[in-house]
Amino acid sequence: MASGKEHTLGTLMLTPLAGLLAWHLSDGDQAVTALATGGCLSGVFLSPDLDMPTRTVSETTLLRWSWGVGYIWIFLWYPYAMFFKHRGISHCPLIGTCTRLVYLAGLAFLFQEVLQQTMEVDGQLMFWLKDHYLTIAIFSAGLAVSDIGHWIMDNF
Ligand SMILES: [Zn+2]
Repeated sequence: MASGKEHTLGTLMLTPLAGLLAWHLSDGDQAVTALATGGCLSGVFLSPDLDMPTRTVSETTLLRWSWGVGYIWIFLWYPYAMFFKHRGISHCPLIGTCTRLVYLAGLAFLFQEVLQQTMEVDGQLMFWLKDHYLTIAIFSAGLAVSDIGHWIMDNF
C-alpha cells in the first residue's frame, strides 16, 4: 500500500501523461487537453482516500495552504468517509470515481438549495451541470486516470 505522499506524487506524475493522452486522442484540442489534465490533477484532492475518516496527506496540505478553508473541505467529505469503507468500492476504478463525482454533485445541489432557501437566490446555479455533459465527462476521465494510478499503487 502506498502512502499519501506517494499517491500525490503518483498523481502528479500521471497528470502530464493524461494531458498527452488527451492531446493525442483529441487531435490537439486545447480545451480537451486542459480538462483531462485538470481532472487528473484534481485527483490529488478528489482522491479515493477521501474514504478515510482520518485526515489524509492531501487534506493536511490543503489545510496548510488554504488558511483554514480546508476545514470546510474536510467537513464536507466526512459523511463520504463514514459511508464508504476504506479501500472498498471507493477505490474501485471508474465506480469509485463515480461515487466521488456523484457525491460532489450532491454537495453542489445542497449548496444551491441552501442558497435558494436562505438568500432567496433565483435561478438554477447548477445550470452548468445540464449543459456541459462533455466537459464533465472529459474532466471525469482525467480523474479516472488518477484513480486508476491510485488503485495500481494500492496493489489493486
Ligand atoms: Zn487509497
